[in-house]
Amino acid sequence: MSARRAEDPSAPLRSLRVLVAGLGVSGIAAARAAATAGASVMVHDAAPAAVERGRVELSSRVEVIADPVAMLSAGALDVVVASPGLTPSAAVLLAAANAGVDIWSEPELAWRLLDGRTRLVAVTGTNGKTTTTELLAACLDVPAVGNIGRPLSALTGAPPPLAVAELSSFQLHYTHTLRADVGVVLNVADDHLDWHGDRRAYAAAKARIWRGQRSSGGYGLRGCDWAVGNLDDDGCARLVADHPPPAGWAPFTIGEPPRDGVGVLDGVVVERITGTQPTPIVGVDALGVRGSHNVANVAAAVAAAIVAGAAPARLGRPLSEARVGAHRLEVVAERGGVRWVNDSKATNPHAAAAALRSFDSVVWIAGGLSKGVSFDPLAADVAGRVRLAVTIGEAGSQLADLTRTHGVETVEAGNLETAVAVAFDRVRSGDVVLLAPACASMDQFVDYAARGDRFRELVGAGATVGRSAR
Ligand code: ADP
Repeated sequence: MSARRAEDPSAPLRSLRVLVAGLGVSGIAAARAAATAGASVMVHDAAPAAVERGRVELSSRVEVIADPVAMLSAGALDVVVASPGLTPSAAVLLAAANAGVDIWSEPELAWRLLDGRTRLVAVTGTNGKTTTTELLAACLDVPAVGNIGRPLSALTGAPPPLAVAELSSFQLHYTHTLRADVGVVLNVADDHLDWHGDRRAYAAAKARIWRGQRSSGGYGLRGCDWAVGNLDDDGCARLVADHPPPAGWAPFTIGEPPRDGVGVLDGVVVERITGTQPTPIVGVDALGVRGSHNVANVAAAVAAAIVAGAAPARLGRPLSEARVGAHRLEVVAERGGVRWVNDSKATNPHAAAAALRSFDSVVWIAGGLSKGVSFDPLAADVAGRVRLAVTIGEAGSQLADLTRTHGVETVEAGNLETAVAVAFDRVRSGDVVLLAPACASMDQFVDYAARGDRFRELVGAGATVGRSAR
């Protein structure tokens, strides 16, 4: 039996044999949606606990298979829906590629099932995706989906007319027909190079957010689809040069507002998309989010909301009421003139640099699992702002080399418990103790949230036993 390729986007799912590889939150949602659409669905996960969860949540609607590679070699599958946790070199995806079987991300599957009923404002970038997606959902008053934790497939039961989707590079890599009315690229810096292979492949995945955009016949402002990109970011500029947006272009910056774009003038976020003169949207001081990187996220959200059709006058209020989620520059304690800040979500050097730039005298707790990226871009911010570096995790010694090279006193603490104890001993009034690891967490924690929760707990415990800052 040979595999029936699923190239035609309108090919009804029910005629297809779909393997969902990886049963995380998005895999389970994908399996459920594909089964509801009538596809013949098989699922696989190497982790017994994930398989068990799949059995419980999906009951008898899907078949659990043990050897997907053999099934692919036998031509018994038409499509593989790949979990973002699987790299392109995973055995099951290599087998699919060898067998000529299409590989879709969960958003690609959902897009086909939505079949034009939901329009998308899609957001990607190395950092700021979740924050910007939440800002946009508030501005447009529509659901937020995707990498943010609620899979796109969850929309297929009752599709809304418009949604905001956070899309990661892993998801975009296997996205083929999904077309966003508005595609936002916030920034592009080195991250996930171990997954993508190199920086060009990583950027090429990000650029797929503009794939298939139309210069007419769309629903956005002036009847076209729109790309929104960051004028202040070199990585984004390279992406635009290498993969020019095919339809409308609305740039943003935290500097002078550009024509057809959004910027900041005298402390006010302004837009020049609906007219050539700047229209004020919201004062930077009135924003519900802090730090220049978050002003950039706000500028991106304003540009995207306007080209998606929102009235500029409606944006000020949601932007001043919005708050960023936990583990993002979250102040967990403040006493004795010391602030303790949890930025566990800073899982790459680009995010950690933004965190360091937000403060002056920093006791910096960093380290964890590196993702094949260099820490050198942190050098400028380390040199000027870090008073004491305390490193943890697998990449601890690599980071210690960097901080010592820049004359920063450094303690290699190894783990978070010791790091927080060192910080309690050494902190002075006026310092910020900042957990901004620049690394993934999985060498020592389940995920970044567990790492941030543990930091909060340790800081709280240290405070109760009276080891407060001197
Ligand atoms: P993502 O969903 O892309 O991981 P988040 O909004 O969750 O983005 O933020 C992740 C980390 O990046 C946090 O540490 C946050 O403080 C930082 N960050 C947010 N926006 C930006 C930005 N525009 N540039 C650099 N860092 C950012």
